[in-house]
Amino acid sequence: METGGGNSLPGVGQDATKRKVCYFYDPEIGNYYYGQGHPMKPHRIRMTHALLAHYGLLGNLQVYKPNPARDRDLCRFHADDYVAFLRSISPETQQDQMRALKRFNVGEDCPVFDGLYPFCQAYAGGSVGGAVKLNHGHDIAINWAGGLHHAKKCEASGFCYVNDIVLAILELLKHHERVLYVDIDIHHGDGVEEAFYTTDRVMTVSFHKFGDYFPGTGDIRDIGYGKGKYYSLNVPLDDGIDDESYQSLFKPIMGKVMEVFRPGAVVLQCGADSLSGDRLGCFNLSIRGHAECVKYMRSFNVPLLLLGGGGYTIRNVARCWCYETGVALGVEVDDKMPPHEYYEYFGPDYTLHVAPSNMENKNSRQQLDEIRARLLDNLSKIRHAPSVQFQERPPDTEFPEQDEDQEDADERHDPASDMDVDGSKHPDETSRKPCSNNIQNEAQKVGGDHAKVAEPMAEDVSGPKASDVSSMAIDEPGSVKAEQQDTQNKLPETPVFAHQKP
Ligand SMILES: [Zn+2]
Repeated sequence: METGGGNSLPGVGQDATKRKVCYFYDPEIGNYYYGQGHPMKPHRIRMTHALLAHYGLLGNLQVYKPNPARDRDLCRFHADDYVAFLRSISPETQQDQMRALKRFNVGEDCPVFDGLYPFCQAYAGGSVGGAVKLNHGHDIAINWAGGLHHAKKCEASGFCYVNDIVLAILELLKHHERVLYVDIDIHHGDGVEEAFYTTDRVMTVSFHKFGDYFPGTGDIRDIGYGKGKYYSLNVPLDDGIDDESYQSLFKPIMGKVMEVFRPGAVVLQCGADSLSGDRLGCFNLSIRGHAECVKYMRSFNVPLLLLGGGGYTIRNVARCWCYETGVALGVEVDDKMPPHEYYEYFGPDYTLHVAPSNMENKNSRQQLDEIRARLLDNLSKIRHAPSVQFQERPPDTEFPEQDEDQEDADERHDPASDMDVDGSKHPDETSRKPCSNNIQNEAQKVGGDHAKVAEPMAEDVSGPKASDVSSMAIDEPGSVKAEQQDTQNKLPETPVFAHQKP
């Protein structure tokens, strides 16, 4: 691999152009520890990084250590009191904070652990930093520590504390009129969908297991609301879905989405719990099948933010995200794994790829055809990409990242630690708690932050709900003319923004 300077090797066909790729990694990330028996293991990010280093892929990337997201960065989506709580809580003080723990849903699935706040700052800083890079000429930005899609404005959920994805999308919206969010984690991308449920500036598309499964949302009938109607897409899937079935939906749906929505930037959450053999998952995707989604979204040549997410059989998570980093670069990574410090995790074959299982695929051809037809029909109701008129652009989030030297901190996990089985599970349902914070944040101003009901919303819901009519500001004409932006998808873009600082 001889190319440097952040340019990838040329691929083939429509992917033949090189991409300028950057990658965010905090060497401390693998030291954060959710606690004994907890399936979420930040160590998998360090394992991924070690594979990238030993495959020689880091030489083809610009590697950055993320600047920690500051309070004010997190408060662009999250409630002030929730952020203050995350900053102040510690394992030593949590007994005195029982009411707050309950209110913010912190304690069990989302435990308090040493360094919780710097952990949140690191993973959110990587995603926002990646968005800033995409806003300034990079083609692809990668943050495998990000993708924590369940976090809500004032509540932790499903191992997620702050929603780095929402924050990154808000950053991208400073430069792009429309941003597409795609989620291939096995769980519904509920936190991101909810934040942007009532806006047409962000389309969210989630492919997930649906039915008696965390978080319980993501019904095909949930399509967005108000101006956001038809701008949320949910693809409900059943156990055992294989590569072929998955791609029979992914490509036609995402092809149509790209055609009708024409985003200026794409955020792809690459949750690896949709892989075969995941400790919490029930799908049967191979790494190649999962990575096909990355390859396909990359082929549109639109600025692309690749994020991590779930993934609980950590040796396979590292395999997957290493392979997908290669896809981002246009490099086919060797199956034979180079020796490295975590080599023993990958025995007995020491290969990058693992065969999917022979589990039953419960998704019938007919079901898949019906889902595809229904979603394509919904997409046909979007006549043309929405356009907004305005405005002055807010300043970028300033992140003077430094190039990172690639040192690995020591580990405190043993190789078998992703194989243990314990009682920690996602809850079946979310319970949404009232949020007392009245500070208006930016997701609200792009028409997000309605308090969506926990039950799937029927398509024919009649009349607005008080909680759904928060759409504001974004489509009102502003007073300052915008600069024209060049975008790679050749759309005349009018950069917009949704902020009005109080
Ligand atoms: Zn997940």
